[in-house]
Amino acid sequence: MKRFFAVLSVLTLLLTGCADKSASISAHAKSRSIFAMDTYMELKAYGDNADAALDRAVSRINEIEAELSVTLPDSDISTLNASSGEPVEVSRDCAWLISNAIKYGDMTGGSLDITLYPVVKEWGFTTGDHNIPDAARLAELLSNVDYSAVSVDGTEVALPKNAEVDLGALAKGFTSSEVAAIFKEDGVRSAIVSLGGNVQAIGSKPDGSDWRVSVRDPFAPETDMCIVEISDAAVITSGNYERYFTGEDGRNYWHIIDPADGYPADNGLVSVTVIGSDGLMCDALSTALFVAGKDSAADIWRKEGGFELILVTDDAEVFYTQGLEGKFTNVSSMTAEVISR
Ligand code: FAD
Ligand code: MG
Repeated sequence: MKRFFAVLSVLTLLLTGCADKSASISAHAKSRSIFAMDTYMELKAYGDNADAALDRAVSRINEIEAELSVTLPDSDISTLNASSGEPVEVSRDCAWLISNAIKYGDMTGGSLDITLYPVVKEWGFTTGDHNIPDAARLAELLSNVDYSAVSVDGTEVALPKNAEVDLGALAKGFTSSEVAAIFKEDGVRSAIVSLGGNVQAIGSKPDGSDWRVSVRDPFAPETDMCIVEISDAAVITSGNYERYFTGEDGRNYWHIIDPADGYPADNGLVSVTVIGSDGLMCDALSTALFVAGKDSAADIWRKEGGFELILVTDDAEVFYTQGLEGKFTNVSSMTAEVISR
């Protein structure tokens, strides 16, 4: 059922995003649908070079998956995770993402921590074999969690002896930015991609107007909560409603973990959407600010800039940052309030 919502959301997005006024322009749209990184991905591009650009984009997605997957035994990440503290030569993509993960870890007071992977595994989120760990087991695993102990020197990466990493929190945003770069290199001026609901728009719609991207209602994921109008930007959401399981205690446990205690982050937010030109930044921050909670998220937005936010609290209120005024339409029954500078 969750997969169904994911597919539905992608279709909704593309129908919304590509509701061109001109049938002749629409006829020039080329698209690809693939399943990679355990996610349905939809890519749509307009213009003469669209087909070639889409083929290159699909190859690039497959290349990034082969480098970064925690489940493929020959990926850089699997090699690193088996390295027992020895330095490992990795791809430029992998080194770049790890250094960015450290940067966004620092920016968010450690809310983003790629060394949480053993904890994520223990909860069963990678295998689907879900389990509620006891506190002693979590404490043991957390003793090896510390992203700041990871070192990157060019393309050589070293993890502390018992550490393991996972780039799932930021790799899809990086991937969508890489796809955008390929489209631009290949002369595609209008395109939209959705990697499992993580959206990146290239340019504007073929008629020159902004893309209209819907964000799902975390309380009713089959319906839209709001529409944002963007061009040349990513819209990336982290929520507690997609990858979760219900324990025997009747409670829901989701895949975004608080490094402070190893439990699913429960700091008052159920959904965080980050909008900005850098997909990697948006993805890293969507996960980190979900952990940080509303007030810290707003403080980080005020301090850092370069992105906008849509936050939904667990008591069903929507907050969006000032830069979205005029670009944000609330289509839910929740109240929506502006976060000012
Ligand atoms: P996001 O909020 O962007 O990220 C959440 C994910 O980040 C969690 O699932 C966890 O892995 C990690 N995480 C949780 N808390 C934190 C934190 N505080 N700091 C840092 N990281 C945290 N999944 C599979 O089940 N099977 C696969 O074969 C598979 N292959 C993949 C290959 C690649 C290259 C990538 C990038 C991902 C793959 N995934 C796979 C993972 C799956 O797509 C993830 O669930 C996804 O990356 C999470 O993205 P999101 O947008 O749902 O959530
Ligand atoms: Mg993320």
